[in-house]
Amino acid sequence: MALRKIVLRGDEILTKTCKPIRKVNERIRILAEDMIDTMIEADGVGLAAPQVGVIKRIFVCRPLLEDQEKIFVMINPEILEKEGEQVSNEGCLSVPGYIGTVMRPERVKLRATDLEGEEHEYEFEGFAATCICHEYDHLDGILYPDKATAFMTNEEYEEILRKLQEEREQEASEDEIEEKE
Ligand SMILES: [Zn+2]
Repeated sequence: MALRKIVLRGDEILTKTCKPIRKVNERIRILAEDMIDTMIEADGVGLAAPQVGVIKRIFVCRPLLEDQEKIFVMINPEILEKEGEQVSNEGCLSVPGYIGTVMRPERVKLRATDLEGEEHEYEFEGFAATCICHEYDHLDGILYPDKATAFMTNEEYEEILRKLQEEREQEASEDEIEEKE
């Protein structure tokens, strides 16, 4: 197990278009393993090669909320179809301390090569689709703040959630009063 250093926003590596991987060899397998270790250690759901300073088209992710043990390695991924729309609140290991609101497709179909060199097609929806699109963007040098309609610190985001919760509780208690009257 080897952890790699995560590159932070502001480093121009994160703005590069990554190069396709010609052959899935031992070096790529070691890179993928290190990326998985680094993602888990950092408590992330995805990590793309440029985030560890490698300008190659590969990302790792664990996009299934119901099964965080299921890890995908996506080599030379290609998004085949996008469908629908969703608003997502995203963070990024390269942009620590911030959350941004981004419009993403609700469903995506993706083709990618795995560590055995075999091509597969995948379909993801909801949170998983967001995760895939976020990681895929990294391979084209795009960070979510480039697309975000809102960008705030974790504290500001928590404050918004707290206010929403208060409003909801307020409404619930007003409903209760009305029912009693
Ligand atoms: Zn990211």
